Amino acid sequence: MSVEEFDVVVAGGGPSGSTVATLVAMQGHRVLLLEKEVFPRYQIGESLLPSTVHGVCKMLGVTEELAAANFPVKRGGTFRWGARPDPWTFSFSVSPRITGPKAFAYQVERAKFDHILLKNAKSKGVDVREGCTVTEVLEDSERITGLRYTDPDGNQREVSATFVIDASGNKSRLYSKVGGARDYSEFFRSLALFGYFEGGKRLPAPYSGNILSVAFDSGWFWYIPLSDTLTSVGAVVRREDAEKIQGDREKALNALIAECPLISEYLADATRVTSGNYGELRVRKDYSYQQSSYWRPGMILIGDAACFVDPVFSSGVHLATYSAMLAARSINSVLDGDLDEKTALTEFEARYRREYGVYYEFLVAFYEMNVNEESYFWQAKKVTKDIEHTELESFVDLVGGLSSGEAALAAKTRIAQHSAEFAAAVDQMASGDDASMVPLFKSHVVRQVMQEGGQEQMRAILGEDAEPELPLFPGGLVTSPDGMKWLPHRPV
Ligand code: FAD
Repeated sequence: MSVEEFDVVVAGGGPSGSTVATLVAMQGHRVLLLEKEVFPRYQIGESLLPSTVHGVCKMLGVTEELAAANFPVKRGGTFRWGARPDPWTFSFSVSPRITGPKAFAYQVERAKFDHILLKNAKSKGVDVREGCTVTEVLEDSERITGLRYTDPDGNQREVSATFVIDASGNKSRLYSKVGGARDYSEFFRSLALFGYFEGGKRLPAPYSGNILSVAFDSGWFWYIPLSDTLTSVGAVVRREDAEKIQGDREKALNALIAECPLISEYLADATRVTSGNYGELRVRKDYSYQQSSYWRPGMILIGDAACFVDPVFSSGVHLATYSAMLAARSINSVLDGDLDEKTALTEFEARYRREYGVYYEFLVAFYEMNVNEESYFWQAKKVTKDIEHTELESFVDLVGGLSSGEAALAAKTRIAQHSAEFAAAVDQMASGDDASMVPLFKSHVVRQVMQEGGQEQMRAILGEDAEPELPLFPGGLVTSPDGMKWLPHRPV
């Protein structure tokens, strides 16, 4: 059997797989992505966070495609949760890390969203092969060396690579090559039963695109608008109440909806979709877990292959794309000879574990039902160790995927970039010959005011010395200006 060689081979073409593959291929490395299904394929996990939309997706270069897909705009979340009997709403615009018009995410049909990311990977130079199932991880005595897979014609094939990425989600077992068995949480052990409805009610504008999450006696419901008329509805039920979703799924879902007055009200005039991809009522265990290690020499776990936490804050795709971005930085740094594998991947794992840990710890507190939302906001400030912002701001940063303070994820950075670009453009115009512009931009005062305005914004955002980033951990690395690699931190 001939063995093909790549710099990186990725198992799985969901958001984590296509993100890591694209960000590594964009640096000129040879990347193969193997995906079992042929896209578009169904997946759950439809509510996104601003960090994915304005951070990672911007780096991937799919901003315009996402906008053109007409996904509903999600400005925040509405919860019937905790001690307060009425629903309360938070808006992403409260976050100091997101700027005005970018204070939103999307609610996406995952078949469409994941396909956009996978096609983008192809267009950025990734060798994407669909209908290819990875069957085995190959290793020698020191490191993981490649993968074996079955191609669409049923042939066994082998590929070798410097790095193997497991981005194959929560169902495959490839992860067991790194750190052995999964460490399951004792706290979050739920089951979800979900389906799709046409004609459900919408929250009043401007929050009609919000996710609505409603706690009830047996667990909680998500209610996610996927278009003007289509809604994704799911009940997450505690393990002790698991028998409520056994047997006939239609009856079980109807009984759970009847237990929850707000969801009953929103679905009063709706009909369940019973045909096509959305016709099935599905059940998923959403047990939370993490691997004891996220990498070993030659292999890295990202997305659901590495860890998963209860979906109440829609953190799954954020953790998938964020971990993919961290992994891509490490791989790019190693392949370019800038850092050794251990240094680069220790940074990857520390940041990824911190992000997972923040959600996990906060969610444990969020399940305290006898307190009100102020207590949740306070808890967010505590777990993120955020001393700069108010409790509400810390909460919104956490649930927006922005608590790491990662510049590449915050929409605000774009202003800094744009300010710099703007200042350069002012200079260029001033030295140009465009007759309509010259009188204004030739004016020294106007130029100075405009450029200082740009610098002012940068200073406000980046600090007095415009130092781009501080390490997240003592002695850790910082991000390169383009977000594609790690750099050693050199204090001035
Ligand atoms: P996946 O999206 O699972 O992609 C993995 C890919 O690998 C798949 O395409 C699969 O076909 C492929 N694959 C598998 N095995 C192989 C193999 N052997 N060879 C080749 N390819 C393979 N997240 C949110 O952000 N928002 C939400 O609202 C949300 N709600 C959720 C609700 C529930 C009930 C659950 C359980 C999860 C929810 N999630 C949510 C989480 C979200 O579904 C996942 O975190 C996300 O899909 C992870 O992305 P991924 O790329 O790691 O894996």
